[in-house]
Amino acid sequence: MHELAITQSLFKIVLEQAQKAGAVKVSRINLKVGRLTGYVPEAVEMNFNLLASGTIVEGAGLKIEWVPVKVLCRDCQKESEQQDLGLGCAHCGSLNVQIAGGREMYIDSMEVDNG
Ligand SMILES: [Zn+2]
Repeated sequence: MHELAITQSLFKIVLEQAQKAGAVKVSRINLKVGRLTGYVPEAVEMNFNLLASGTIVEGAGLKIEWVPVKVLCRDCQKESEQQDLGLGCAHCGSLNVQIAGGREMYIDSMEVDNG
């Protein structure tokens, strides 16, 4: 798993954004994570707390929202959401689909205190 590397880069972005906003404290971070990333939320959270310790991000609430897997059907050109991989198009049942979402991981929003 790549949780540590990905958490480090996320943390860097959070710090940069907070500094840009002139924040004295980061209170909340809302993350979006695609189901296909395979990330374990507990691991992301644990790494994040470790990195945040002693910084303005320490104690920030980390909310992880899972983004479902999305596939685009090559037969009927429609998009559908999936709980798991390996299922076909929800509209016509075709297995001729490509992955259209679920690999992403990004900061959706964050709340900061300006002192
Ligand atoms: Zn289809």
